[in-house]
Amino acid sequence: MRKINKIIIHCTATAEGKNYTAADIDRWHKTMGFSKIGYHYIILLDGTVELGRPLAEKGAHTAGHNSDSIGICYVGGLDCLGNPKDTRTTAQRSALEELVKKLKKRFPKAAIHGHRDFANKDCPCFDVRTELYNNTDSA
Ligand SMILES: [Zn+2]
Repeated sequence: MRKINKIIIHCTATAEGKNYTAADIDRWHKTMGFSKIGYHYIILLDGTVELGRPLAEKGAHTAGHNSDSIGICYVGGLDCLGNPKDTRTTAQRSALEELVKKLKKRFPKAAIHGHRDFANKDCPCFDVRTELYNNTDSA
């Protein structure tokens, strides 16, 4: 297994209410020249967690931070006009919380980040720090 220091949250940057799946993202990422989907987990509108790239494989989601991180992506992130918005459904919120909890148990040293901590982007369109127990293991 790779050394995991970060869990990085993303959104698909697609319009609110549009239900894309891991298979769609896999197709998009292949057209961008990736071997396969760049994220490790995808959270659908109904809270279903789909698997993307195997955890043991380095992802392709955050420039400069892929080798020691896990990439999670929820479907949504834009309003109907294409502006950044926290569009997560109640099911997506709880699925994300559960998944992060589970991963923190397995990788206690991993810090939770949003993509925007590392790039000049809005992704994932909500404040990961205030919401997802960041660095609960540090004093
Ligand atoms: Zn992102």
